[in-house]
Parts: sequence; C-alpha cells; structure tokens
Amino acid sequence: MTSGARLVILGRQGAGKGTQCVRLSRHFVVPHISTGDMLRAAVREDTEVGIAVKEIMDTGGLVGDTTMVALVQKRISLDDARTRGYILDGFPRTVFQAQAFDEMSVDQPLHVVLDLVVPREMVVQRLSARRVCRDCGANFTASGVEPRPWTCENCGGDVVHRADDTPEAINRRLDLYESQTAPLIEFYGRTGRLVEINGVGSPDDVFSRVTTAVDARR
Ligand code: AMP
Repeated sequence: MTSGARLVILGRQGAGKGTQCVRLSRHFVVPHISTGDMLRAAVREDTEVGIAVKEIMDTGGLVGDTTMVALVQKRISLDDARTRGYILDGFPRTVFQAQAFDEMSVDQPLHVVLDLVVPREMVVQRLSARRVCRDCGANFTASGVEPRPWTCENCGGDVVHRADDTPEAINRRLDLYESQTAPLIEFYGRTGRLVEINGVGSPDDVFSRVTTAVDARR
C-alpha cells in the first residue's frame, strides 16, 4: 500500500477533480480536503461562515481569501493531515491563497501540484449533468432516469444537484477560473512544482496518469 502525500489538484470546474480526488484519497490513504465540500457543510449547518458565504457560492463567486486561508490553516493542522498529508481540492484558487499556503506549510511542503487539463467547451456540458454525493464528494452523471432519492453507491450519502451547477453560475465560475486561478499554473510552474495531466479520457486512464505523476515526485 502506498501512503502519505501532500498534493494540490488544480483544473477547471468539471475537469473531473472530484472523482480523481476521491480515488486518490483512498489510494494514498490521505484525507481529501475539498474547500467546496467544507463550505457546503457550513451552509447546511447554518454556521456563521455558512450564512456569510451562501449567496456568493450560489451565484458562482469566490469566497474571500482571508476566510479561505483561515479555514484551510485550521484543517491542515489536524492530526490526520499533519501525519499522513492531504489532497487539496478547490484550494488555492488565487495567487494570494497560494502564497499564504506556502507560508503555513513551510515545515511540510507540497510534493506536487497537478493541473488536470480539460478544454472549457468539454466541461460546460459535464457540469450541467453533474450530481454530487453530499457526504463523500463522489461525482455522478445524470441521465434522466435516476432513483429518487438517489443514494451514493460508495457511502450511502444523498446524491444531489449542486445549487451552483446552473448555466449562469457555471459560466461565472469558469470565467473566475481563467482570471483568478489560471495564474497559479505560472506560479507553481515557476517554482518547479507543477505537473500538467491530460484530463481527457476515461477516469481509469486519467487516474493512472495522476498516480504515475505523484509517485515520481514523492
Ligand atoms: P467547488 O466545490 O470547489 O467547486 O467550490 C464551490 C464554491 O465554493 C466555489 O464556487 C466558491 O464559491 C467556493 N470556494 C471553494 N473553494 C474556494 C476557494 N479556495 N476560494 C474561494 N472560494 C471558494
């Protein structure tokens, strides 16, 4: 069994990050830290953060950097992340967040940042049909004949249509990806931490490309 790794997965929304992260988390036996999942849980639980971010999330905007950095700092200081590592999914999303993350992880730096590359035209359709497990984050594709309620085959959680998977919010998120998140490719590339992965193909093919890249860097 391979275990332990500190990874960041970048890539457009709908590039298959969620699916790959769930598998990677099992493969390397590390927690999958999805900031989107953490925020959605906060919204469901009506916490102070949840109430503050709900509208931003529903309309496809970006939550403020300070909130995000504090959330991640707290999460990676927990025992499981400190001893085993983590897969960061959805964070960092801005250069500010990436710089703050470097500062908070100096003693345990990232092994590698993977950029899952899928063209924009391909992801819009995928996102509209996407359904997500509320508990484990597994992704599914709706075909129109789903069971109701739809239960996740991995963990038994509820499979739902995300409030921000509407055409307007999808386009806004993709625009924000180009303007705010794509600069991270240069940021991590400059410091030799980036590996681009072709994200087009079957989930198994992409997974094998991803694990090969991680194994070469750990
Ligand atoms: P995701 O599940 O990663 O697509 O995230 C869903 C939504 O949560 C995003 O559209 C943002 O509104 C918010 N969000 C998640 N992670 C971040 C982040 N690192 N910075 C800012 N907003 C975020």
